[in-house]
Amino acid sequence: MTTIPRQITEPARQIDVIKETDVLVVGSGPGGLAAALAAARAGVEVTLVERFGCFGGNITAVGVEGFAWYRHEKTVEANGIGREFEERAKAMGAAVPESQSLSYEIDSEGFKVVADNLVLEAGIHPMLHRSFVSPIMDGNTILGIIVESKAGREAILAKRVIDATGDADVATRAGAPSYKTPHEEMQAASVMFHLAGVDKKAFMAGVNADPQTYKDWASGEWKIETSGKEDNMFSPFIRKPFEQAMKDGLIPANLNTIAGTWGALHDSGELTYMNLVHLAGCDGTNPDSMTHFEIEGRRQAMLAIEALKRYTPGCSQARLRNFGMTIGIRDTRKIDAIYNLTEHDVREQARFDDSIGIYPEFIDGYGILILPTTGRYMHIPYRSMLPKGINNLLVAGRAIGGDKISHAATRNMACCAVAGQGAGIACAISIKTATTLNEVSIDLIQAELSKQGVRYL
Ligand SMILES: Cc1cc2nc3c(=O)[nH]c(=O)nc-3n(C[C@H](O)[C@H](O)[C@H](O)COP(=O)(O)OP(=O)(O)OC[C@H]3O[C@@H](n4cnc5c(N)ncnc54)[C@H](O)[C@@H]3O)c2cc1C
Repeated sequence: MTTIPRQITEPARQIDVIKETDVLVVGSGPGGLAAALAAARAGVEVTLVERFGCFGGNITAVGVEGFAWYRHEKTVEANGIGREFEERAKAMGAAVPESQSLSYEIDSEGFKVVADNLVLEAGIHPMLHRSFVSPIMDGNTILGIIVESKAGREAILAKRVIDATGDADVATRAGAPSYKTPHEEMQAASVMFHLAGVDKKAFMAGVNADPQTYKDWASGEWKIETSGKEDNMFSPFIRKPFEQAMKDGLIPANLNTIAGTWGALHDSGELTYMNLVHLAGCDGTNPDSMTHFEIEGRRQAMLAIEALKRYTPGCSQARLRNFGMTIGIRDTRKIDAIYNLTEHDVREQARFDDSIGIYPEFIDGYGILILPTTGRYMHIPYRSMLPKGINNLLVAGRAIGGDKISHAATRNMACCAVAGQGAGIACAISIKTATTLNEVSIDLIQAELSKQGVRYL
């Protein structure tokens, strides 16, 4: 990687304060969107800042459509805004039944409109196309943020800030301690894509003739730890066409990482949420690394599509419909929170007095797959969103505090929505009761959670 051995001093400048708000949410993925909606519904003024032109985070920007593919008959959940995302998408024609679970696959394009409606109905002040660049600090207290856009730099002031950037951008730049999984252990990044032109009947006949299971994930290069009960369950998994393509010299032998799952198959012939390209070593906080892997990921996706066309029933006329508008990053910074969740917590149904929502026993990542088929669940503690040393700031979404394996649970979108809803409510209550985020009443937070239909015990 090129290093430029010179530095310049950026001149100080006066910038306009363009907005003052009660709660400022930065980032609008499942965590940030839920946070903004929850705070607004709890009765405070909310502003939602997003760097892209749509809300939804990985759902809309990357094309991650499997919102609750873990759900089975006995799964116990928080419900709340996460469930509302699915129900609303379904009601607006932006979701179809998911192939391996009792859930709905969210249409990544349609969800842009679903999110617009939710934001506007809740009276949230929307600010798309602005990137957070710097916190505005008074000592250890965050007073707002500086954003950058086509309009230059601008300031937004807020009584409370929620960092829902996924990468803990705000917390880290505010000086809160954060850490990353060692590079070689980070979850791979993915370039996601969607196909058109698939013959649904022929494709499904192929799937039914040779159904794949979660045990099949462990073939080839991958290793997977399950609890055993997952092994014989159906999974929309594809590896065989890529193995054949490797034998025939179409895919080079070093790309034995091309394999994974398909998402929704529409009557219109669209096969979406193709999660097949896995890019180890991509650092989602380094734009040079992301540039390299965006290009490499697209190259690999085109090889995967060619293999699907040649070796998968129903795909001979398939064509690329679209890539996600950005590379999908699974694993970057996590804050060092007042309480950091542990592997033991997510495996052994942790219980906390400051629970802001429950999450089923669903662990997916770092070579582990455990599905919540038994009714086991854990509590998500409020303190896992409280960064150390910074006042007026919460972190929601995949950057909450926890060890590596705990993130294989908490990174999942429905869990990010649980954390987001709790964070939004906590900020609203702390403003209304004039208490700090460290001292805010858990009882009042839980009362509002109940009012908003969230199960937290
Ligand atoms: C390829 C892939 C497949 C996955 N599959 C699944 C799955 O099947 N099921 C599942 O539950 N989870 C899945 N995940 C994980 C899940 O998508 C994420 O962990 C989850 O979306 C994180 O939610 P979040 O709200 O924390 O962040 P994100 O969804 O990443 O949203 C963060 C938002 O913040 C915005 N933002 C970031 N920085 C700034 C800034 N500086 N200024 C302004 N805005 C900013 C971003 O544009 C984005 O909209 C997958 C992830 C990937 C990458």
